[in-house]
Amino acid sequence: MKKIFSLLISITGALSGFSQTPLQKFEFVNFSKVNITDNFWKPKIDKVATVTMKACIYQTEVKTPRIRNFEKVARNKGEKFEGLYYDDSDVYKALEAMSYSLKTHPDSTLQAKADEWIDKIAAAQLPDGYLDTYFTLRDISQRWTNIEAHEDYNAGHLMEAAVAYYNVTGKRKFLDVAIRLANHIDSTFRLAGKKWFSGHEEIELGLVKLYKVTNDDRYLKLADWYLQQRGKGYFTYGKSWYTPGYWQDLKLVKDQTEITGHAVRAMYLYTGAADVAALSGDEGYMNAMKKVWEDVVYRNMYITGGIGSAGDNEGFSKDYDLPNEDAYCETCASVGMVLWNQRMCQLTGESKYLDVLERSLYNGALDGLSLSGDHFFYDNVLASNGQHQRREWFGTACCPANIARLVTSVGNYIYGKSNDGIWVNLFVGSNTNITIGKTDVAVKMETNYPWDGEVKLNIDPVKKSKFKLYVRVPGWWQDEPAPGNLYHFIDRSDDRILLLKLNGEFVRYDWQNGFAVIENEWKKGDIVSVEFPMAAKQITASPELKYDNERIAIQRGPLVYCVEGADNKEGVWNLIFPANTNFTTTNYKILDEPVLAIQAELSSAVANKNGDGIEIQKRKVTAIPYYCWANRGANPMQVWLPTKIREVKINYASKYEDGGNY
Ligand SMILES: [Zn+2]
Repeated sequence: MKKIFSLLISITGALSGFSQTPLQKFEFVNFSKVNITDNFWKPKIDKVATVTMKACIYQTEVKTPRIRNFEKVARNKGEKFEGLYYDDSDVYKALEAMSYSLKTHPDSTLQAKADEWIDKIAAAQLPDGYLDTYFTLRDISQRWTNIEAHEDYNAGHLMEAAVAYYNVTGKRKFLDVAIRLANHIDSTFRLAGKKWFSGHEEIELGLVKLYKVTNDDRYLKLADWYLQQRGKGYFTYGKSWYTPGYWQDLKLVKDQTEITGHAVRAMYLYTGAADVAALSGDEGYMNAMKKVWEDVVYRNMYITGGIGSAGDNEGFSKDYDLPNEDAYCETCASVGMVLWNQRMCQLTGESKYLDVLERSLYNGALDGLSLSGDHFFYDNVLASNGQHQRREWFGTACCPANIARLVTSVGNYIYGKSNDGIWVNLFVGSNTNITIGKTDVAVKMETNYPWDGEVKLNIDPVKKSKFKLYVRVPGWWQDEPAPGNLYHFIDRSDDRILLLKLNGEFVRYDWQNGFAVIENEWKKGDIVSVEFPMAAKQITASPELKYDNERIAIQRGPLVYCVEGADNKEGVWNLIFPANTNFTTTNYKILDEPVLAIQAELSSAVANKNGDGIEIQKRKVTAIPYYCWANRGANPMQVWLPTKIREVKINYASKYEDGGNY
């Protein structure tokens, strides 16, 4: 009977192309419906709108030839391509960020600039839909001959940008460019049965967005087709790092169990696979991704949520190989962690994915953007002797617009909606409206997160209505810094009570996959309050993480802290973390950013007067949130502080203080 039933399902599925039953447990509320009001994210979104967007536009249009390449194609006078073959993608990613910013900060000048760029992009599209300035200017006969040429990567970013711009402005021109390009790619590959795959994943999730806005399932089929081309051994290239593992081609996606290769490629692949799984109902992708996710989080993730430790392949090396000073941890990879974990949470309804999302968002990703909004980290180290500083731009400039689009759309990760209720996933002062059944419910969240864990939710249905409220209970509050065994809090609390109240009274709740679920008949004016007390906590790493052996990191709430020279002039590499350290927190400012700093008395190893021995002195040390470091000039920094003198580097610090040679 069971067999017959599944046969019927597969026949139905085959006939309709895709089952219309979504696999996902809930859907995140789009940022465009969320109004952020807090003191943490709102100023950052404002800064991206007023500063970061200008920096991206200036770099894209004036300082580098990215826009000029499109103009050259349109002029058709045999001019040369300038720059790198994937530069078109930076234009698209900037346009995507501009679109999100236009939603939160309507700005006619910015919109005019976007329209101007879109006109230039449209003018560079060939009659058959192809659009890539590198091959069009250099040698069009060579198009689609090299899987590593990023043509479909560029196309994916174009599709994401076009959908974003259409959703925000209702203007179709850019969307029509994306549709013509997608049709061209579909005809060239899937419909022609050509052997091909994308050397840099990204088009998969762009196609899913195009499908969602057009309802044309050829784009969903094409996304699935791209996923299915991996693991067939179609392509290998001579360069040492272009191995099948580098671009996640060792196995069919549905058979993959381990994370390999280039970190950003991997994140975009699994984000696309999760998107296709959610719409197609294909559990094969999800089962594979659960195993790959465990490989990432249990063995290959930094305490900052950063991933991809190695610079040579911009990606994963061996399990547990997480050096601090040489950490690569590309900003884009942390952005990818946010995207992928959002999708995994949507598919499973499990809050462990949000714990990872939150860790990557508040630490590894946010570190990519300066407090001033116009400087960027490409790699995000966890220790420095002052040689790492954010830059205005990069030759390969994937990171700046990526962090810009993430910050402007951070409202995407806060609320969720299922048939039976409302989900509160991240704690950000904000409000939204969610329709459950036929009832509109106004939701308002007040909190000073990430500085304190008190959260107040106003639940205001227009009329009395029964539904569930899913409130995420953060892993860090449950003494789990990250899912798995990599990191542990030293000071664990045993008697923890969830202070969850409805209208001032403790309320009954069910525990479901890391969410506290309140089932209730809600009425106007209901207030849910929850407290997740925050304290500075010491973290140790699993012994396999050799670079963190005999070291301690500090976390408070979702924020990882670091010790930076700007606050600790007597050095950060000569500190020793004694047992039983007590912490105090203090209001502090880093440039214009109000933060809570953590202070403690630590030991400091210094040379004695004669210079022939070492003295241990006690001194007050200030730790700041990791995302804030490197905003006050070149400074040494450490996230993991040693507990033993053998890990101390006295000269390392003093060399820096003398001015250094780097
Ligand atoms: Zn990047």
